[in-house]
Amino acid sequence: MPIYLDYNATTPVDKRVLEVMLPYFTENFGNASSRTHSFGWLAEDAVKIARQQVAELINCLEQEIVFTSGSTEAINFAIKGIWENYQFKGKHIVTVKTEHKAVLDCCAFLEKRGAKITYLSVDREGLIDLDELKSALSSETILVAVMYANNETGVIQPIKKIADLVHANNSILLCDATQAVGKITIDVEEEHIDLMCVSAHKMYGPKGVGALYVRRKGPRVSLFPQMHGGGHERGLRSGTLNVTGIVGLGKACELAKEEMWEDAIRVSKLRTKLEQLLCETENVFINGSTKHRLFNTTNITFQGIRSESLINKIPNIAVALGSACTSALAQPSHVLKAMGLNDDDSFSSIRFSLGKYTTEAEINEAISLFRKLLMELKN
Ligand code: PLP
Repeated sequence: MPIYLDYNATTPVDKRVLEVMLPYFTENFGNASSRTHSFGWLAEDAVKIARQQVAELINCLEQEIVFTSGSTEAINFAIKGIWENYQFKGKHIVTVKTEHKAVLDCCAFLEKRGAKITYLSVDREGLIDLDELKSALSSETILVAVMYANNETGVIQPIKKIADLVHANNSILLCDATQAVGKITIDVEEEHIDLMCVSAHKMYGPKGVGALYVRRKGPRVSLFPQMHGGGHERGLRSGTLNVTGIVGLGKACELAKEEMWEDAIRVSKLRTKLEQLLCETENVFINGSTKHRLFNTTNITFQGIRSESLINKIPNIAVALGSACTSALAQPSHVLKAMGLNDDDSFSSIRFSLGKYTTEAEINEAISLFRKLLMELKN
């Protein structure tokens, strides 16, 4: 059996999630907008429960959740929705060089439409400089988009401190928390996040479903809809609701709330073992802060060895070069480059991301295969 160490790309659906989804494909197939019969009411009730489950995981109100097809859509909705509604106030957006392409490509799109974008740099650890953020902010800044945890390195930004600066400037904070939700506790009230995206397939739910959290009070955030037709989701996102997917997302959130810390303790031990044993080899090092990092991710450079050739020699281990979303393009990772790695080191880096089904036996096997191969390549 191949060993799957690419949980940041996607996760298998938890069987308990699948179980609650299945009836909504068949007997409970109603449209959640059908108000005239029990099929519709059943679907509507299921969506309501799922909305509560998502809201409970991140500590917000049910009415602050808008279901989407995933984080890419949620990010497009947030950035373009803010741009349309707040342009009168200013045309400046601040983001970070290490954001996911969904954020960077939206910003590049708006740049062509007259937006002024500031791309904050990161240090060798992958962290932004709060002073640089502070000096980038102006009365023209309508939005600041900073991710919670990076998909390639797992590095976690100081979101609360960022939120304080953003709100002192009367701007809005969008946080791409795709990789963090369900892995660590996130409280949008406590951390004062205004917009935040969630994706089910990163947390043992199905692909093609997610949500955008939109703050209602302090400040009330108003987004211009990107999908028209039917007025679903309080007019913010039209389109028949993906009831099965939403039920799955809700259940995944419920399970994460109950179980994430158990997983974290076990998985972080396995991650530490993996990276410590791999880094015993000469010229092998970890990228990004080891202090402010998700427990499941490690990004390792094997200096002088192309990661592609390394991976090709161990086809049984599923890992990622840079990020899965950009790996079709033969370009060095924009995240590692922004952290100061040169192209060679960037092309020699591998992302290992573990998950709740990763076993100690799998990690032992991965360590032994990698170490054997590194020895061979050295001699
Ligand atoms: N943001 C981050 C940090 C991600 O890791 C991903 C997926 O890889 C996305 C956004 C896009 O999420 P989705 O697959 O739900 O569109």
